[in-house]
Amino acid sequence: MTIHITISTSLLGAENVLTDDPTLEKFSGDMTENDPCKPGVVAFASTVEQVQGVLRLANKHKVPVTPRVAGSNLGGISIPAPGGMLLDLTRMDRIVEVNIEDAYAVLEPGVGFGQLKKYLDDKGIAFTISYPLSPPEVSILCNCILDGLGNLSLKHGSMANWINGLEVVLPNGDLMRTGSMAAGKTWCSRPPFPDLTGLFVNWQGTTGIVTKLAVQLWPKRPLRKRFFTPAYDLASGISLMTELARTGCFDDIGCVFWSLGKLMFAGVRHFQRDPNEPELYVYVDICANTTLELSAKQAQMLNLVEEAAERGVVEEPIELDVFLKLAPDFAKMAEFPTRLDFLLDHPGGGLTWVGTYGPCSNWAKAAESGKKIMTDLGFTPYIVMRPMNGAHFAVLRFITIFDRKNPAEVQKVREMNRRLCLDALEHGFLAYKTPAWAVKLFEPHMDPNFLAVACKVRTLLDPNGIMNPRP
Ligand SMILES: Cc1cc2nc3c(=O)[nH]c(=O)nc-3n(C[C@H](O)[C@H](O)[C@H](O)COP(=O)(O)OP(=O)(O)OC[C@H]3O[C@@H](n4cnc5c(N)ncnc54)[C@H](O)[C@@H]3O)c2cc1C
Repeated sequence: MTIHITISTSLLGAENVLTDDPTLEKFSGDMTENDPCKPGVVAFASTVEQVQGVLRLANKHKVPVTPRVAGSNLGGISIPAPGGMLLDLTRMDRIVEVNIEDAYAVLEPGVGFGQLKKYLDDKGIAFTISYPLSPPEVSILCNCILDGLGNLSLKHGSMANWINGLEVVLPNGDLMRTGSMAAGKTWCSRPPFPDLTGLFVNWQGTTGIVTKLAVQLWPKRPLRKRFFTPAYDLASGISLMTELARTGCFDDIGCVFWSLGKLMFAGVRHFQRDPNEPELYVYVDICANTTLELSAKQAQMLNLVEEAAERGVVEEPIELDVFLKLAPDFAKMAEFPTRLDFLLDHPGGGLTWVGTYGPCSNWAKAAESGKKIMTDLGFTPYIVMRPMNGAHFAVLRFITIFDRKNPAEVQKVREMNRRLCLDALEHGFLAYKTPAWAVKLFEPHMDPNFLAVACKVRTLLDPNGIMNPRP
């Protein structure tokens, strides 16, 4: 393919355009059960102009391009097309602007959560972003355009809500800006124009390459406390989370199943739940500006938990400090961003999930049903849940750790994820960061006119179909 030579010599430099087998192999897959696929070339861009040049050439020669930063999406959505180009954006890692007066930051794709946190801490800037449980090198920009979730999603919704505007290289190489920057002089807001930011949210790089993200920052409250409440059954845990969320008092509420609790707190994997132990651990983060505010919020939490404790369905909350005395290893996971080593560093190397968003009204039923699928197939139910945006909807995430080198196990994981996805759909829960296989499952259920318009939009922006094409 002569495009490699043109890109090397005229655009990126030969050292940034690699076609050797180990590199192609390295970028061919991810940690999931999705089949790897070798690209024809791996290119590293450092500037917006380079991304423009690459897309112009790729468009002319009709070469598929898959942009990628950390490749941690857990849905196989940054696996390249066969023989196509994997465009690595990790070197575009400038924090372009942090505007405290208007409470936003402008970031390139390669800026990770760890990098921004360090920048803010080093400069003593008391603002924060919503942190996912992803490793620190994960791209903030990707998490926003994939509509992910973080520790402030209860208050401010999924990450696309945080976007003020984007700078995007369109598939033909043109540059476009959305949000207030479409006409104004700052990135201060998403309104008032037609919301073209949506053309690049949840499209997984199929409509263009986002080269700048303007993202909201929120003041970091000086006081914070975290509590864990063991709950004896799923429905009680979920109803407690919803009640707590509806008070509007708390910054983060979520829960992990007993199985993940054991992994996180004791490092123990793969075993049965003792029927006498709690089924899940609900956690609550309380942040405040003053001790008075903190104690009022804490009292509000205790009231609700005590009501449930009197019914015998939950136990008294345990404060993080007390918890850390019992499980000191948990300390590094209690701060953001964190690295969940126990999910990432294990001999089998495989990690996948079906992560879904859906209605609080069906949350417990959907969770119970997914749990049954996992246990019936012989998997430990690693389940994580969280109310979102004031409990307007909920997150239900079924996580699996597996051995990638064992084809039979990989096949079993595929089958389970397919069943989990369909079952969640039955309960109104939809897989986010939607893998290609899940899109196929959804298609028969989708509004045909939604599909038709989506296809027209994509063809309009990318008539040659070069952007991150799916099998
Ligand atoms: C242990 C673990 C915990 C996690 N916890 C969470 C969590 O709590 N919440 C959460 O939301 N996620 C979580 N994740 C998932 C993951 O971190 C996110 O999906 C992350 O946002 C993806 O970022 P990335 O840099 O890995 O993107 P990549 O995987 O590299 O790319 C993601 C997608 O975006 C496309 N893309 C990449 N760059 C661009 C660009 N510049 N313009 C347009 N398209 C682009 C890619 O082609 C791909 O389709 C977790 C992952 C792990 C491994």
